[in-house]
Amino acid sequence: MAIRKILTVGGPREKILRTRAKKISRFDAHLQRLVEDLWETMRAAPGVGLAAPQIGESIRVLVAEYEDEHAALVNPEILKAEGEVLGTEGCLSIPGYVGDHVARAASIVVKARDPHGKEIRLRAEGWWARILQHEIDHLDGILYTDRISPADVREVTDDDTAEEGAPPSRMPQSHTMNGHAPAAHTVAIAAETAEVKTTETKTAKTAETADPPARQTTPEHQPAMDTAGGRE
Ligand SMILES: [Zn+2]
Repeated sequence: MAIRKILTVGGPREKILRTRAKKISRFDAHLQRLVEDLWETMRAAPGVGLAAPQIGESIRVLVAEYEDEHAALVNPEILKAEGEVLGTEGCLSIPGYVGDHVARAASIVVKARDPHGKEIRLRAEGWWARILQHEIDHLDGILYTDRISPADVREVTDDDTAEEGAPPSRMPQSHTMNGHAPAAHTVAIAAETAEVKTTETKTAKTAETADPPARQTTPEHQPAMDTAGGRE
């Protein structure tokens, strides 16, 4: 395992971030090592998701973990997407900035393979669904900044916060979207940038759905998730 360098927008290998990544057909030791590198690099950042193009590998693999959700997905495809929620996202490849009002499906069903080639299907909601959509976008060369107007991209000024890529506490106060609970969308969705706590969840549990609002009360999540709503 190795911590790999994360490519950034404006950096020398930026083009890889803008390239549609190739589908994987060989589920070999090389792929499994790459997935290990993704996990290690993501956790060191720290982040909640990382896609292979972000470490310079233009192939369709991503890792993500959030609370007790945990997934390494190869060739992921969104089979079904429902609802729409707006949220704030950060990206390890766009350090120092976050974007507001990024529209994502509220719930998705994803088909993929695991790093050993086994077909998996998972349903995700809320923040977990947002993270996966953000990472799947990376496989198509899409960044969150493509989905919002430039006016919604803002610099994160606080030093500590900027370092983690987490949004500051100043967040949009009152979006009402499709009747979803406020916490599901006003919480800062710093995909890839939240502090990650280690879970003991096995990969087999990835099919379970997220239960985002109720659990976002742990203090250690505050740097990335300390936003309007979401906390009692
Ligand atoms: Zn990203």
